[in-house]
Amino acid sequence: MHSYMNIKKSARISHDFWEVTTRAGMFDIVAAGLGDGRHRSLADGHEFVNMSSYSYLGLDTHPKIVQAAADAVLAEGSLNTSTSRMRIRFGVLRDAEDALSELFDVEAITVASCAAAAWASLPLIASGLFTDEQPPLMVFDKNAHFCLNAMKPNVADEAPVTTIAHNDLEALEELCRTHPQVAYVADGVYSTGGAAPVAELLRLQEKYGLFLFFDEAHGISTVGERGRGVVLEEMAKAGGINDRTLIITSLNKGFGASGGAIFLGRKGAQQRRDTALRNGGPLMWSQRINTAGLGAVLASAEIHRSPELKELQARLAENVDLFDRLVPTALSGDGLPIRFVDIGAEDATVRLAEGLLKHGYYASPIFFPVIARGKAGLRLMLRANMSSAEITEFAGLLHELRDRHV
Ligand SMILES: *Cc1c(COP(=O)(O)O)cnc(C)c1O
Repeated sequence: MHSYMNIKKSARISHDFWEVTTRAGMFDIVAAGLGDGRHRSLADGHEFVNMSSYSYLGLDTHPKIVQAAADAVLAEGSLNTSTSRMRIRFGVLRDAEDALSELFDVEAITVASCAAAAWASLPLIASGLFTDEQPPLMVFDKNAHFCLNAMKPNVADEAPVTTIAHNDLEALEELCRTHPQVAYVADGVYSTGGAAPVAELLRLQEKYGLFLFFDEAHGISTVGERGRGVVLEEMAKAGGINDRTLIITSLNKGFGASGGAIFLGRKGAQQRRDTALRNGGPLMWSQRINTAGLGAVLASAEIHRSPELKELQARLAENVDLFDRLVPTALSGDGLPIRFVDIGAEDATVRLAEGLLKHGYYASPIFFPVIARGKAGLRLMLRANMSSAEITEFAGLLHELRDRHV
């Protein structure tokens, strides 16, 4: 028992975090959307800018995507086929998967969320169905996302599981030397910042046949040609995705639509597609991206194919640069939009976040157990649709209030 999970213990550890953050008014905010990451609280009418939104390109409120969602559901006259997608699916589901496969040059399957994509794909990899029928040693990066870690008990019933330190290439290579089949489970871009060493991992793949599993929830749209993310951008140098690599992503974040996706391998990998659809749990049931979400996926894919994508990425890069000049952090200059501002003490961090919100900026305080004790701070995400005035004012407030509270 409790080899991988202990919810009662986690609940005890995280209790203070939830309590303190809720009391500070940083949780449970019910708000109306005003566009461009701005909100108005329904409780007191307070308006604020979200400095911790995943919508890196601002696509969540893109008029074309919102319109396409409405049009799709009205055109179909229903949100769902209300039967397994394996049996009957609407044309818009086929079209959305074709569009994603085309856009990223992969074999894409859509699913209700990135978490459901992890649920569907990790046990399949552990089973050995993608590694010559031999269950691989499943190696998790210590910082891999919660939704990947949560699959460990399930994965452990199919294959041996181990966890290594964050981005520890030496430990991983040692395991590759001593085991015939190894699969490495990592985030492409980590939710608290930083990326996987993709080029080095691909070298290990080349040398040992390492199977690579990446969660690109934060990489897709944000980075790379057509928004293909850090992994596919690197893999493009060697001809694109290969059959020793599987990528999952969210379509709820940078992509600005809904749901998640699994990139199974090269476009046209029909056998792998059949294997995944017939054996991958959540893919078979009644959950899928609903018709409105699929309309949004189609519209977002079209934006990703257009010159607008590059413009949005460039605007995001400018905003990240501006922020880095005003607020230097350990991650400055890494080409990604996620920043962690170290504060240290938990109570000072919450008071700082509370002060920022009063002045019109929502910034997520994170602390133990999300990160180590005494290392609390703010997790910030830059967006293409922030004005430089907003970033400048926020940075000024951050310095002023930090001096006051820390
Ligand atoms: C948000 C997130 C997920 C979950 O995505 P959903 O689409 O909300 O299920 C998975 N992985 C990472 C790294 C994330 O940040």
